[in-house]
Amino acid sequence: LVCFYGACGNLDMAYKVFLSIQSKDVVSWNSMIAASVQRGCPDTALELFQAMDAENVKPNEVTLVCALSACAQLGAIDLGRWIHIYINKRGFKLDCYLSTALLYMYAKCGDLERALEVFHSVKRKDVFAWSAMIAGLAMHGHGKAAIDTFYRMQEAGVKPNAVTFINLLSACSHMGLVEEARLFFRQMLPVHGIEPQAQHYSCMVDVLGRAGYFDEVMDLIKMSMPHTAFVWSSLLGACWIHGNVDLAEVAFSRLIELEPRNDGAYVMLSNVYAKSGKWDKVSELRKLMRVSGLKKEQGYSSIEVHGTIHEFVVADNSHPMSTKIYSKLEEIALELKAEGYVPDKNQLLLIVEDEHMKEQALYLHSEKLAIVFGLLSLATSQPIRIMKNLRICGDCHSFAKAISKLYKREILVRDRYRFHRFKDGCCSCMDYW
Ligand SMILES: [Zn+2]
Ligand SMILES: [Zn+2]
Repeated sequence: LVCFYGACGNLDMAYKVFLSIQSKDVVSWNSMIAASVQRGCPDTALELFQAMDAENVKPNEVTLVCALSACAQLGAIDLGRWIHIYINKRGFKLDCYLSTALLYMYAKCGDLERALEVFHSVKRKDVFAWSAMIAGLAMHGHGKAAIDTFYRMQEAGVKPNAVTFINLLSACSHMGLVEEARLFFRQMLPVHGIEPQAQHYSCMVDVLGRAGYFDEVMDLIKMSMPHTAFVWSSLLGACWIHGNVDLAEVAFSRLIELEPRNDGAYVMLSNVYAKSGKWDKVSELRKLMRVSGLKKEQGYSSIEVHGTIHEFVVADNSHPMSTKIYSKLEEIALELKAEGYVPDKNQLLLIVEDEHMKEQALYLHSEKLAIVFGLLSLATSQPIRIMKNLRICGDCHSFAKAISKLYKREILVRDRYRFHRFKDGCCSCMDYW
């Protein structure tokens, strides 16, 4: 029952049922912890964890792995570290299963060094550990290191699986390693006996599309039957980068056939139109979205400060420190202007007539609010880690670069696709994302 309510998102009911259980065993604790972390209450999860310990119920590997993977999703690195210490203190054996969860948590939370440390400490690494490490390197933009890890995996006699190749190909796509991606993709079936699936095709569409090889992309799409939404949305993304309006319209209509309520498709196509200055098309699309009752997925950014997750939406006023955040933001805006930073108004989806309003709207993006909150709340030695549910926009990207230089702060942003590590005015993605 705890599991059931937890899965339905009814945490209160889950908790009520949980409390009514007379003698709670490790399974009921596990369910409650899992439910809390999945529902974005890592504080509750941590309390439960400690309560469980106090009641002398020993957590098992499942408890730990589940808590770690939830930390990874949330970007809750403080909680993740706490669990790591707990594992050591309680003398849990760091086997492959637990280590993989641990290294993945560190990688997803932005601490790649620690992830590598955990990885190297594993004696006999299985395919999951290797694949997780490749994924970790990929999301941080270390394409070459990811490929290197793949080769070492083979030297160690571990056979790659379908997931390994998804991670490997996305490593190539993050760094634009077209040649390497082509090679790995071609070798999948003949050398490794793995039939390429929809996700592999969409990785390839992504790599080739970003590099502008649209003919090759179309050939590949013809080969990948049946077509999935993945493939078309990758193509749509590539069309946005290259401003390929005609192909974008094709990709859009195919995508909408498969997923009529895909709001991301509308946003992407309107971005393509906006990029080539087709504002009439943009507003047409907006109207279409309104008529069909579609709303753009709400963007939000979160940041963990002293073990608590703070979440911001665009133009957020709900945070207790809002006033401070906005006055700091104004101060920064002036400083940046003096440094010659120009807000990139092309990043605005809405057609705002007034030029001044455009600038205002850009400054309200959730990741900027979260970054400023981080500046105000964290010690200067601590990196500012932001988790964003959507792709970071170009203006917020430039903003983060400028802040990293101006305030000498390291800023990490995990967006829907990858990590951006901003330092001294540069980003680890080399502006390729
Ligand atoms: Zn933005
Ligand atoms: Zn970047």
